[in-house]
Formats: sequence, C-alpha cells, structure tokens
Amino acid sequence: MNRLERLVRENIRALKPYSSARDEFSGSEGIFLDANENPFGTLNRYPDPYQKALKEKLSQLKDIPSKNIFIGNGSDEIIDLVFRIFCEPGTDKVITFPPTYGMYEVSAGINNVEVIRVKLTPDFQIDFEAFFQQMEQNKNIKIVFVCSPNNPTGNSIYNIEKLLEYNTIVVVDEAYIDFSERASLIEKLPEYPNLIVSQTFSKAFGLAAARVGVAYANESIVALLNKVKPPYNVSALNQKAALEMLENYSLVQDRIRLILNEKEQLINQLSELDEVIKIYPSDANFLLVEFKNANEIYENLVNHNIIVRNRNSSIKNCIRITVGSAEENSQLINTLKNYK
Ligand code: PMP
Repeated sequence: MNRLERLVRENIRALKPYSSARDEFSGSEGIFLDANENPFGTLNRYPDPYQKALKEKLSQLKDIPSKNIFIGNGSDEIIDLVFRIFCEPGTDKVITFPPTYGMYEVSAGINNVEVIRVKLTPDFQIDFEAFFQQMEQNKNIKIVFVCSPNNPTGNSIYNIEKLLEYNTIVVVDEAYIDFSERASLIEKLPEYPNLIVSQTFSKAFGLAAARVGVAYANESIVALLNKVKPPYNVSALNQKAALEMLENYSLVQDRIRLILNEKEQLINQLSELDEVIKIYPSDANFLLVEFKNANEIYENLVNHNIIVRNRNSSIKNCIRITVGSAEENSQLINTLKNYK
C-alpha cells in the first residue's frame, strides 16, 4: 500500500466504483430503457455523471489531463467529500489556519472530526513553527486546509509547498485565484500526489447560483472522489451553464478586469474616509477593511440596505466588503461618507 492509500479510510478503500450500464455507452443517441426515466420532456434524462464535456474544456483551458479533474456541486461539496474519504469520525483530525473560510469547520463538525486551529500570523501568513509543532504532537492529522487567496483576509498565502512535505492531504482552496496574478498550485500537482487544488465557478465565472466546483488532483484522488460522490451530483443545467462560460472565456476575463478596476477605485475612495483605519492588501474580489468602529458602521450600512460582512468577532473592527458594480460601490461610498 502506498502513502496515499494509507491515508484513506478503510471502508472507502474497500468500496468498488459504482457503474451504470450507460457508462459503457459513450454516445448520446440510443434507446435508453435502463434508468427508469420518462421518455417525454427536455430535462427527462439524467445528466452525464462524469461531466465529460465540461472536463474536456477545463482540461484545454488549464492544460491538465481530464483524468486529474473532478467536478462537484460547488466546492463546498468537494470539501465534504474529502472529509468523508480521509477522516474517520471521532478519531482523525484536520488543521486549518484561521481566520479562514468557515466551511472547513462546518464540514468537520458534521463529520465528527477534530479541528486543530493554527492561527495565521498578524500579517495573515502561516505560522510554520506552530504548524510543525502540531504535526509532531498529533498522530491522526489527515487533511490540512489552506485558502489562498484567503477568505476573509484577501491575501495570498506563501510557501504552501512546505505543508505538502508531510504525510497528509493538503487542500488548497483557490476559490479567488482568478482575481489574482499569482500562479495556481495546479502546476505543483505532478510533484505532490497528496495535493488537492479546489476552484469554483461561483466567483470569477459569476455562476454562484449554478453550484459548480472543481478539484484538480492526482488520478487516484479523483478516483476516490468519484467513488464517494452522489452519482448525478452536478445537474445538466449547471453543467451547461459552466460550459457556456468556458466557451465565452473572453467575457469572463472582461468581467474580471472590470471588477479589478472597480476594486482599485474602491481602495482609493475608502482610503480617503476618516472612519477607515486600514485596508488590507487583497488578491481577491473583496477587501478586508478596518474601521474605527466596525459594529456601528455595519449597522448603519444594513439600515441603508447595504449588506457587508462584519468580521469584528474574529478580526477586531474589520468588515469584509465585496467589490460590486460601479453603481453599488458608489452607493456604498456615499453611505459611508454621510455616516454620522
Ligand atoms: N471556498 C472559499 C474560500 C469561499 O469563499 C467559498 C464561497 N464563499 C467557497 C469555497 C464555496 O464555493 P462554492 O460556491 O463553489 O461552493
């Protein structure tokens, strides 16, 4: 058994991949009497369980073979599936680097897995000394979750390679990578069989409603994800929506440029406000902003129907603000200007 196989829960290792008669039939024309579908209608057939067309297109875009791609019902589904493959409930542990995306903690709770929290340094980087210490002290750490660019701080995380040297799975959550100029960890996949890079159509591709997430990983991890996913986890409508965005990739790029341009303007305008103490550097489509009094600012914005994310409980006096359209951003700025 190799190192990767040893990390997998015993019951999952023993599972056979499920298959349907249709797996053997690659064409779309035929008389399908195998799946108890309705012969009438337009959405009457089950979708492709392996999302082949979508993977083919992603494979070209990212220059990575289809066999290294897994599609989930949002990247939130991928996070949960990874827990179920690698973490024995009640025994195994994971590491997170707070403040970070909340879903790692939620999925850990649902799967009865202990979370070891290694706090980010004051400039929101990994405290490697504290990480190494936890790795030495704990036996059953199966997954390390790192988010880069990190939500809610917005910055990219450096030296992620150092995490990959250990005998654990490392999930690098790159939900915001398309807004950043930094390289994706996808390029490290050939070197690290324990690496899972997670991306999403919810942010830069503008398809949050569709629920399409992507994991890039070693072929055997993709095979494990395929074993544990619900057979038809991504609907035909959602596969189509994602495919259409990939076919209109220049539109996606135009929108990213617009958002980044708006972000620059927002930074300039926010920095002129008396109430603003600090705007943290961001490689994402949102800004973490420290105010003199975040709770009061937050209440005032909510009263004007402007909803931002108050992070005061985890990062003192900080609010996370998504970059909106030009009009939305100027309403935000005007409301902040008229505060008091
Ligand atoms: N990862 C991060 C860091 C996120 O911020 C979010 C959404 N807020 C997600 C994953 C979830 O993405 P999806 O819509 O693909 O489930």
